[in-house]
Amino acid sequence: MKHVVPPDERGLDYLEIRGLTVEFDGFRAVDGVDLTLLQGRLHFLIGPNGAGKTTLVDAVTGLVPGSGLARYRGRELLGLRSHKVVQAGVGRTFQTATVFEELTVLQNLDIAGGVHRSAWGMLRARRGVPEYVESALETIGLSDLRDRPAGVLAHGQKQWLEIGMLLVQDSKVMLLDEPVAGMSAEERTETGELLRRIGAERTIVVIEHDMEFVRTFADVVTVLHAGKVLTEGTVAEIQADPRVQEVYLGRTAEGADHA
Ligand code: ADP
Ligand code: MG
Repeated sequence: MKHVVPPDERGLDYLEIRGLTVEFDGFRAVDGVDLTLLQGRLHFLIGPNGAGKTTLVDAVTGLVPGSGLARYRGRELLGLRSHKVVQAGVGRTFQTATVFEELTVLQNLDIAGGVHRSAWGMLRARRGVPEYVESALETIGLSDLRDRPAGVLAHGQKQWLEIGMLLVQDSKVMLLDEPVAGMSAEERTETGELLRRIGAERTIVVIEHDMEFVRTFADVVTVLHAGKVLTEGTVAEIQADPRVQEVYLGRTAEGADHA
């Protein structure tokens, strides 16, 4: 087990999860998970299909009921409705993109930004592109495509738009469910670099299977198996762990090699 300096002593933000449990008809999809997710590091959450990764994110973001504790900036998230979780600064993306295909890139961002605006503020904001939306467009590299319907975007660009929507929502914690699935190698690299850029002042958790991507971008990796944390560490540490190879990496020849 690794010991770290408690995050609050370093003045960093963090999301703290303790004893998180989610049951579906007596089946524990998430079973007593403890995680401390620190600002400024790219956390990866890996584990075989059915390990409970998506359910964990669902519980933290108010989509399924969970017991235990999930605290961010002194606020208990479990039991909050989804929009309250967003207002508390915690945003997520889904395994399948959820952009409004018939609306433009800009309109998608504008709607996402509405989460933090009053109706009056929205009316005023519509007279021009607000600064924070401009800035999000630039960060995700879609400035030139702002007036295109989201439906015509490439697969990778849709995922970046979703990340842009979290940016305008001012999510300080971003829980990204398989954001690079189906992306080309080039799109993966661009996504990793995007996450690095926005990650310094945020807490980012990425669920991903592709070990090449994990190796390149992960600062910390947590391995989930059958609803429990199997182990946590650097990529090298988890790849050297025989238990991890057994439940997960052993299945992908690529993942099990040179730790
Ligand atoms: P992962 O994202 O790691 O692949 P999931 O979190 O989607 O895994 O699923 C974890 C387990 O919980 C699986 O066995 C899945 O079948 C089960 N599960 C997920 N959602 C539900 C649900 N709404 N009702 C019943 N079982 C569910
Ligand atoms: Mg999943």
